[in-house]
Amino acid sequence: MPPRSLHVAVIGAGAAGLVAASELRREGHSPVVFERAAGVGGTWLYDPAASADLLGAGAVHSSVYASLRTNLSRECFGFSDFPFIADEGVGDGDRRRFPGHQEVLRYLQEFARRFDLYGMVRLRTEVASVRRETSASWRVTSHSTSELAGGGGPVQEVFDAVVVCNGHFVTPRVANIAGIGSWPGKQMHSHSYRVPEAFHGQVVVVVGYATSGFDISRDVAGVAREVHVAAATCVEMQRTARPNLWLHPMIERAEADGSVVFQDGNRVKADAIIHCTGYKYSYPFLDEEVVGISVDDNRVGPLYKHVFPPHLAPHISFIGLPFRFEYEDWVAEQCGKEMMEGWRKAMYLAARKNMVDRPENWRDEWEDAHLLSEAYQDLTKYF
Ligand SMILES: Cc1cc2nc3c(=O)[nH]c(=O)nc-3n(C[C@H](O)[C@H](O)[C@H](O)COP(=O)(O)OP(=O)(O)OC[C@H]3O[C@@H](n4cnc5c(N)ncnc54)[C@H](O)[C@@H]3O)c2cc1C
Repeated sequence: MPPRSLHVAVIGAGAAGLVAASELRREGHSPVVFERAAGVGGTWLYDPAASADLLGAGAVHSSVYASLRTNLSRECFGFSDFPFIADEGVGDGDRRRFPGHQEVLRYLQEFARRFDLYGMVRLRTEVASVRRETSASWRVTSHSTSELAGGGGPVQEVFDAVVVCNGHFVTPRVANIAGIGSWPGKQMHSHSYRVPEAFHGQVVVVVGYATSGFDISRDVAGVAREVHVAAATCVEMQRTARPNLWLHPMIERAEADGSVVFQDGNRVKADAIIHCTGYKYSYPFLDEEVVGISVDDNRVGPLYKHVFPPHLAPHISFIGLPFRFEYEDWVAEQCGKEMMEGWRKAMYLAARKNMVDRPENWRDEWEDAHLLSEAYQDLTKYF
């Protein structure tokens, strides 16, 4: 007997929600994608406005800053059946291997067009709550986020299943710094960082040196007097290739006279601290008691293989929680797809290494060109 076609609510029209909707329809289901923003693309929908609370998320979803370029090459980044190739026909396209955020948004919009997904997406519609209706159905309450909607009130609908794709890089996680309460400077989380101009001539401390800290410290160093990065991997103060950018161990404390003291005893008087310290996973529309899912230090559970709560499977699922090759290969295998291509993994690793070897220009000079022909040979079947 063919499986029953299910009416599925997908929450979010970022990369995960778009792919989920496309695959659900391919399997014969009828998805509705709820998206509170005015367009598809999720975090890649750049929003020049930051949250009013510079350490909180506010109503702002995107964490993308103006200068952001991808940290994966486009070959590596793209969906397996819709390669992210440089479009020679597009006049204002960004053809770089590590393109700017606008190009990623264009790619996701093109994916939605090519796979005819727009008809399934309800833009400017926020899911406020997801409640269990029966053991195999859900009551989803949504409301319009459009200022033109003129009220209208919440809308309730019943779905057979819910797929959660609301994004993981929205709710700031802020560094816990001793003495910060009396420290007089300005603080911001990378979620609210857009452009460096506000830091002109200042002394800035950046906490965290993963991708955002790495990029933002360099962006800010272009205008600031000094930038000091507190990096978990640094044991003593180090100079970088930039004369006004230093690496330090983590922060010991902040003081009322504006000083920031690092764990090796070095101190600077700083005007601002930018927390590039990651995000907390959050599902405000799920009633924890009813759904039985909680988040502990970004571990969402209990979930079978990070996708299905065992007691509710397959009626609610979470997409894209962990990201590791072995896990992604396992998911592909379960879905009857091929494992991730060897060249894709090798390109990912090459980019990580290049970032260390060429911190100032790793996105424009690389040594993995030998993998390109292999990649394009594989991807040609989808051009
Ligand atoms: C600064 C930054 C840089 C990044 N750079 C890279 C990179 O270079 N390479 C890479 O591979 N990945 C990168 N990522 C990871 C990025 O998150 C993924 O590429 C991908 O965009 C995640 O897609 P998603 O659909 O899971 O989430 P999102 O893109 O965040 O989309 C979630 C969507 O859900 C919607 N939503 C949320 N709650 C609700 C609700 N209650 N009702 C309705 N809609 C809702 C949001 O509006 C949003 O559109 C980066 C992330 C950030 C933050």
